[in-house]
Amino acid sequence: MTTSHVIVGDGIAGSSAAETLRERDPDADITVITDEGEALYNRILIKEFAKGKLPEAPISIHEPEWYDERDIDLELNTHVTRVDSDGHEIHTHTGDVYEYDKLLVATGGTPTQLPVENSDADGIHHFWTFQDARAIKEHAAEAERGIIVGAGLLGIDLAAVCGAQGIDANYLMRGNRWWRYALSEDGAGIIHDALEENGVTPVFDSGVDRFEVDDSGAVEAAVDPNGERYDGEFCGVAIGLTFNTEWLHGSGVERDGGVVVDEYMQTNVEDIYAAGDITKFQDVLIGAQAQNGAWGSAKEQGAVAAENMVADDEAERFEWVSSYSITHFEFPFLSFGHPTRGDDEAERKYSDTEWRRLAFEDGQLVGGVLIGDLSQQSKFKQLIREQRQVADQKEVLLEEEVDLDMLEDPPEAN
Ligand SMILES: Cc1cc2nc3c(=O)[nH]c(=O)nc-3n(C[C@H](O)[C@H](O)[C@H](O)COP(=O)(O)OP(=O)(O)OC[C@H]3O[C@@H](n4cnc5c(N)ncnc54)[C@H](O)[C@@H]3O)c2cc1C
Repeated sequence: MTTSHVIVGDGIAGSSAAETLRERDPDADITVITDEGEALYNRILIKEFAKGKLPEAPISIHEPEWYDERDIDLELNTHVTRVDSDGHEIHTHTGDVYEYDKLLVATGGTPTQLPVENSDADGIHHFWTFQDARAIKEHAAEAERGIIVGAGLLGIDLAAVCGAQGIDANYLMRGNRWWRYALSEDGAGIIHDALEENGVTPVFDSGVDRFEVDDSGAVEAAVDPNGERYDGEFCGVAIGLTFNTEWLHGSGVERDGGVVVDEYMQTNVEDIYAAGDITKFQDVLIGAQAQNGAWGSAKEQGAVAAENMVADDEAERFEWVSSYSITHFEFPFLSFGHPTRGDDEAERKYSDTEWRRLAFEDGQLVGGVLIGDLSQQSKFKQLIREQRQVADQKEVLLEEEVDLDMLEDPPEAN
């Protein structure tokens, strides 16, 4: 009997699942449904396009022929509105119904709007799709003053777009530093200096209380909670993602700030799997539920989900140390694992542009941030994979060149 696999979402998670499904099950019916108007493209690279540093062509990953060659049905511009898990059917906005034997939820998230006055005004950009990038690039090329909100990994992309496009921008941040959940003042200071060098001014203990608009409804300023007014006709907001789970209402699929899955990417509902940004997954390396917003992790989750969908069994576990790099500055930047978790930490600054911070939980290394020198990353990832107890050996781990042989083995348990 032919198995019918339906994948909702053609981001890297959905697309990687489709590829693995076809490799493992040559006879299956495979359908990929996306509400975007284009097949998989490189979401990581759209910031380089918005900066004006890359043309459109290399950003596309799959042309429609890629699906044809693999006998995969690709439905573009199709929004899935509902799943009937008892009937094994999904419904689309056009009224079409697709039956599935196995369903993969790979619908990712949508940028969250600031809950303030005029937050949907013209000139306020959120950054997730290629279409967003096209609008950002066009506007940024002509804008002179900018406002960026959201002191995290996506906010800094919008700040870098301002820098590359010659926009004089203020970067409004809560607290006293960029990405304060993962960086100390020393580490963030390196980023602040680099932002300034790019024409972007960090503004601390700030944020947005409201946007002001002109007579045509276009944004012209942001007013922060201190009453300070910042002019800007280009505004970029990146305060987090709202996961695209509304179509799962009534399906019985457990959601808890994301779709809950085990280490096999299975949800609590039979024959429904999930992969990518949308998952709240069981991370076997840290023995806890976790979330990851990173390309490599989403790709691997898609492949693991597909293996288990084909096997109709718990064939493969998701075991992965995620990483996320920033390439906007003259020095490299990498976060790995879960740098915002932990009950203990260690950090050191090595030079004006070199810094390291390691996060530990229950004695294990769980994540970190490297600025300037990424050469030790594979050692840290190895320690995470080995789940070694190393939190009491910080001096060894903070050496510029880490010698893993210098780590003492933990005392034998009685
Ligand atoms: C500007 C930017 C820069 C980034 N830079 C990096 C980086 O440097 N390194 C890194 O590791 N990660 C980076 N990321 C994050 C990375 O791109 C994501 O983690 C990854 O793309 C997630 O893939 P996904 O397949 O889970 O979700 P997505 O790529 O979000 O795909 C989900 C798809 O599902 C579609 N969809 C949603 N709801 C429905 C529905 N109801 N019906 C039909 N279709 C639906 C969406 O339109 C979307 O196409 C960046 C992201 C952005 C936006």
